[in-house]
Amino acid sequence: MLRERLLEELLAWSLAMGADEAIGDVAVDRFAESERRSQALAARRQPTAAPSAPPARPVAVAKPAPAPAAPGRPPGPIVIPKAMPALDGGLAASIEAARAAAAAANTLEELGQAVAAFDGCALKKTATNTVFADGVPDGGLMLIGEAPGADEDRLGKPFVGVSGQLLDRMLAAIGRSRQTDAYITNVLFWRPPGNRKPTDSEIAICRPFVERHIALVRPRLLVLVGGTASAAMLPGSLGITRLRGQWLALDVNGVPEPVQAIAMYHPSFLLRSPERKREAWADLLSIKTRLKESLK
Ligand code: URA
Repeated sequence: MLRERLLEELLAWSLAMGADEAIGDVAVDRFAESERRSQALAARRQPTAAPSAPPARPVAVAKPAPAPAAPGRPPGPIVIPKAMPALDGGLAASIEAARAAAAAANTLEELGQAVAAFDGCALKKTATNTVFADGVPDGGLMLIGEAPGADEDRLGKPFVGVSGQLLDRMLAAIGRSRQTDAYITNVLFWRPPGNRKPTDSEIAICRPFVERHIALVRPRLLVLVGGTASAAMLPGSLGITRLRGQWLALDVNGVPEPVQAIAMYHPSFLLRSPERKREAWADLLSIKTRLKESLK
């Protein structure tokens, strides 16, 4: 009886901590892990070679990372090359299926239906709703965030929780709103269990839809909201603190011209770190100016 109650409590605690999903994309081979650990331990325990022993093979030394780019803005837009991670078979098949479904969509409505019908991302199994987009697509401004949270999952719309309310206020500060001239989506269309960080595989699977989304909206400006969206759209790039505030020329499949894009802090980060609002405000003003310039 006591054991059962303890197990129930443990389960409730795990759920509260966000562990509400028992599956991953790839099975974790714990045997291989412990084997690797014991081998590393055994190697460390090897007696050091006697002075007369032949010289050991040279140990590879990691080269120091290249010096970070000088602070300050580069003279022109940075063109970010696309990069693909190494893929396993299942992942490659899911990405291929997403590509085909995305390419077949010729309107935003068709794309929304294609995303909702897509079963290649495991997150869909645990989500309540597919969260596609909200706002006005032809206002020139498209924002891409990370992934739906609990409120978004419940209501089927992006950025409707507390961080979404802050995002709305940020947009209002530059005279924009999702009711009239801003369009909002995410790099993932389903809530990761317990709001965990999206995995690279989930992002890679959804990416063809995100690119098609951009190609169909054809925004004058694209705002990548937060570190995850920025890393997803700008692979291998700098962290959000270095990236934010810089205008980038982003190559997007299906869009002939590079898309002008900027990364900015995520509103949930700003709620936790209000001292960074000053930088966010500078970015918002930069977006406002560029929007005005893009109409000339
Ligand atoms: N955070 C995001 O990045 N997207 C949402 O839709 C909600 C919260």
